[in-house]
Amino acid sequence: MTDIQTVKVYVSLGSNIGDTEDNLNQAVARLEKYDGIDPEVWSETYETEPQGLKDQPWFSNQIVRFAVDPELWSAEGFLSTLQAVEGQMDRVRGEVNGPRTIDLDIVLFGDRVINSGEYLTVPHPRALDRAFVLHPLAEIDPELVFPDGTTVVEALNRITYRIDGKRIYQD
Ligand code: AMP
Repeated sequence: MTDIQTVKVYVSLGSNIGDTEDNLNQAVARLEKYDGIDPEVWSETYETEPQGLKDQPWFSNQIVRFAVDPELWSAEGFLSTLQAVEGQMDRVRGEVNGPRTIDLDIVLFGDRVINSGEYLTVPHPRALDRAFVLHPLAEIDPELVFPDGTTVVEALNRITYRIDGKRIYQD
């Protein structure tokens, strides 16, 4: 068997409706069924304060690193699959940053920098501001460096947030 050179793809998962931890697990299980998409590292699940719209339940958030076969998946194709899984899980698209059964974002797709209009921006444009993305990223890959040279630790030091056990507070 030949070794496939896979790409490390970091996905941010979030849920604040229903059994939130189960929703995160279910999303990964659905993605795992596709050829060339293999979950390989899971962060802990964190309970995080909603940003923007405050009047809604706290979120469960997690980062999962997938080994993705670049011969089978472009970043755009991978995003369309994330959106298909969101759709299968009955995500109701309401207000921006509002409640959701499942939200799946591409944080990093290997070291690629992508600006496909509004459809896809990688690294995710708000990743560097969000403790619920950066803290679990640093947990699973403390040496991680963004394509612009910013390390995950530097990015965490630039933002204001508070962690209490598995709870992440950030206005
Ligand atoms: P959201 O409601 O936060 O899931 O945002 C979804 C919208 O963001 C969709 O229209 C996507 O096409 C777009 N988008 C742009 N870049 C990304 C990314 N890196 N990951 C996920 N969605 C993205």
